[in-house]
Amino acid sequence: MNLKACGRCGGDQISEELLGETEMVCLQCGHRAFAPANTLPRYITVARQRARRARLAA
Ligand SMILES: [Zn+2]
Repeated sequence: MNLKACGRCGGDQISEELLGETEMVCLQCGHRAFAPANTLPRYITVARQRARRARLAA
């Protein structure tokens, strides 16, 4: 999490993986920005977690 890193409102951002892209999402205003390429997602969408589990089970 990046504290007070939002370019729009100065709020706190969290990294989120969406459709294979990692984005920084502001917790206060929802502003999204692409994360630096080396940023690992800390929050992964449920759909992707299910897909990963299915892949492990196969
Ligand atoms: Zn913001």
